[in-house]
Order: sequence, then structure tokens, then C-alpha cells
Amino acid sequence: MKSDVIVIGAGIIGSSIAYHLAQRKASVILVEKGDLAAGSSGACDGLIFLQSKKPGIHLQLAMESRKRFARLRSSLPVAIEYRECGGMVVIESDEELAVMHEFVKEQQKIGLDVTLLNANRARQLEPHLSEHILGATRSPLDGQVNPIALTLGFALGAKKLGARVITGATVHGIDTTSGRVSAVETDTGRFEADIIVNAAGSHAPEIGTMVGLPLPIKPRRGQIIVTEACRPMLNHCMISAKYIAAKFNPEIAKAGGEGISIEQTENGNFLLGSTREFVGYDKRTTSKGLQSIAAKTAGIVPALEQVNVIRAFAGLRPYTPDGLPILGPVADVPGFFMAAGHEGDGIALSPITGELIAQMIITGKSDFPLDAFRLSRFNVAREDGEVAHG
Ligand SMILES: Cc1cc2nc3c(=O)[nH]c(=O)nc-3n(C[C@H](O)[C@H](O)[C@H](O)COP(=O)(O)OP(=O)(O)OC[C@H]3O[C@@H](n4cnc5c(N)ncnc54)[C@H](O)[C@@H]3O)c2cc1C
Repeated sequence: MKSDVIVIGAGIIGSSIAYHLAQRKASVILVEKGDLAAGSSGACDGLIFLQSKKPGIHLQLAMESRKRFARLRSSLPVAIEYRECGGMVVIESDEELAVMHEFVKEQQKIGLDVTLLNANRARQLEPHLSEHILGATRSPLDGQVNPIALTLGFALGAKKLGARVITGATVHGIDTTSGRVSAVETDTGRFEADIIVNAAGSHAPEIGTMVGLPLPIKPRRGQIIVTEACRPMLNHCMISAKYIAAKFNPEIAKAGGEGISIEQTENGNFLLGSTREFVGYDKRTTSKGLQSIAAKTAGIVPALEQVNVIRAFAGLRPYTPDGLPILGPVADVPGFFMAAGHEGDGIALSPITGELIAQMIITGKSDFPLDAFRLSRFNVAREDGEVAHG
């Protein structure tokens, strides 16, 4: 079977790329070893949080991505449960207050609509917040989406536009012809294309190895508690200020200081998350992790203590050392594109990632500069000893 492009991995990133390519009339095969959303995209929260992004290129990319959700809500063939609910970063200590004061100033400089609220104002907006909080930052631009529905929406949308979506097919090899990628080998057959996109999430390094590229992506586990559906209790999605610290400083996460997120879904269930752990590809939950999440979330919203927990799960974030995804063509392997390493931001960044990678593939250019996201920023040495460019 032959197409213009093969996308490996039907998580939210690969599905979005397939959708945006199919919209531009490219012929696409989306190959997935399990089922749609079988990886991290089916085991995560759905926060579209701008406030958690580092001020700079990361935040700018997220702001661009956010603009696309309202249109996707009406154009995708699945109800994606997108809500512009606004978000709060909850502050519990003087140190966090000082950090958030500076963080907000930087975000405002980039043009993000965000304000620092004192404790009284934060509790007026969210009466369930604990008495002990010192304040919160708030942005009306933060929102939420159902990540599984969005992944299915992209994949089924791509299919409607002519893409072939093949599940249950593990890619175990990539063929090259005169140095250029030419086909993928799977356990259900061989598929040919001149362009191959690695969107395999935390498994992207396995795909990289098939073309001699050691990729600096590793799995970072996150555990989540799911509660029963409740009446609407919160107006905003929330993360703690410690979440921001833990996201950007692995030492804080290692010392057990990870922050938490609280999200009430459209159905009324709470998703309470999450840990940040380097434990290889182990997707089990642990009593230590779940107890820590339960205690910390109830510390911020005490009413959660009375809410019945119905299940828990864990997913693997595709972590990169600088917190940015790896996007774009790899010059040393003609025809090979990277679109992986979104860590804890893949849901929020999925619309813009799909759009920019599709643009790059079709026109060789993108509306938003991808230079800062290239693989070459890591100076990885290819297996033949050459330093990879691109
Ligand atoms: C606990 C937790 C909470 C999170 N919360 C948020 C949040 O609130 N907001 C946000 O924006 N992000 C969040 N994230 C991050 C988000 O889930 C990820 O960034 C995103 O899902 C990554 O998508 P992906 O498509 O790159 O990877 P995946 O969803 O993992 O998809 C990769 C796919 O590739 C397939 N694959 C792998 N190897 C092969 C192969 N050899 N052949 C064929 N297919 C293959 C896999 O089966 C998988 O389906 C969270 C993550 C976790 C774990």
C-alpha cells in the first residue's frame, strides 16, 4: 500500500497530523500498534492550560493552539467537550507567591490575559477553595477538553477526508532507499511513502532507532484519580503553583513535591492528578502516588474528601530534557519528520502541532517558526557517529 505520508502513532499528535494532512488533500496512512488513543492520550487530563507554559516560545505556541479549539468543536465528527472555563493556579506559600508574581509578569509581557488574585477574590470565584490558600492566578483563556474524544475526533475526521487509519499494526522497521525513508514494515504488512512521521509519543525512541537516531525522549509517569460524577462544584480548572515548579524542575518532583491538578469534566467526574515519575515504561498506579494526590487535592478543595473515588490510572508523558516537543524534519534522514516529546502539554498543543507539521510536509514552511523545536538542539549523535542535523 502506498501513500504520500505515513504517520506512526494514533495518539492525539499523530491523529491531529493525519487530520490536517488529509484536509490539505495529502494521502495519509495512520499506523497504530494498539487502538486509537491507546497511549498517553487516553490516560491523561484534558487541561488546555496556558498559565502552566514557560513564558517564551512555549507559551506562544500554546496561545496559537488554543485559538483553534473552538473551530474544532464545530468541525470534528465527535463531541470534544471543549469548554473555556478559565483556569486558576492556586498559591499555598509565600515562596510560591513570590515565584508566581514574577511568572505572571513574564506571561503578561507575552500578551497572556492573566491576573494575580488575593485569597478573598479567589474564594469569591471558587467558594470551595480551602481557607489556607494565599491567592491564585487566573486566566479566562484556560480551558478543558475530553482528550480521548479529541483524539477520536481527529482520527475519524482524517478518515472521513480519505486517510487510511490502520490499528493493531506495530511498526518494527523503516526502510530507506538511497538514504531517504521509503516504507514502514509492520506485523500486518509493508506500507510505502516518501515521508514518515514519528508521532509515537513516549515510544518515539524505538522508532528513532529504526533510522539510527537516538532520541532524548523518556517516559514520565503520571497517576490520576477519577471520582464519581458530582454536581458542578468548580467553575475553573485548577493546578497548584507547585505543579509549575515540579514541571520545570525534576528535583522538586523527585523530592515528592509535585503539584496537583483538579478538573471537573462535563459529566461531573473529577480528575485529580498527578505524579511526575521516571520509572521506565511502568504504567501501574501506586498507593503512595494515589494517597499523595488525594491528600494534596483535598488540601486545596476540602469538599473532595467527601467524594467517592471510582478508579485510578497512569499514563506516560513523553518527556524531553528542555520541556519542549521535538518537531519538524530531520535533515540527516531525508523524509523523516519528528512530532513527539510534548510531555504534559500534548493535548493543549495538538491542534497547532498537526497544523504546522502538515504545512511543513506540504509546503516546506510553517506559519509559526519551528526552529526552537528541531531535534538538532540536542546535538544527538547518530548511530553512524555523525551528529544529527535538522
Ligand atoms: C497523567 C497525565 C496528565 C496529563 N495531562 C495533560 C493535560 O492536562 N493537558 C495536556 O495538554 N497534556 C496532558 N498530558 C500529556 C499528554 O497526555 C501527552 O503529551 C499526549 O497525550 C502525547 O500524545 P502523543 O500522541 O504524542 O503520544 P501517545 O498518546 O502516547 O500516542 C503515541 C501512539 O503511538 C503508538 N505507537 C508506539 N509505538 C508504535 C509502533 N512501533 N508502531 C505503531 N504505533 C506505535 C502508541 O500505541 C500510541 O497510541 C498528560 C499526561 C499524563 C500522563
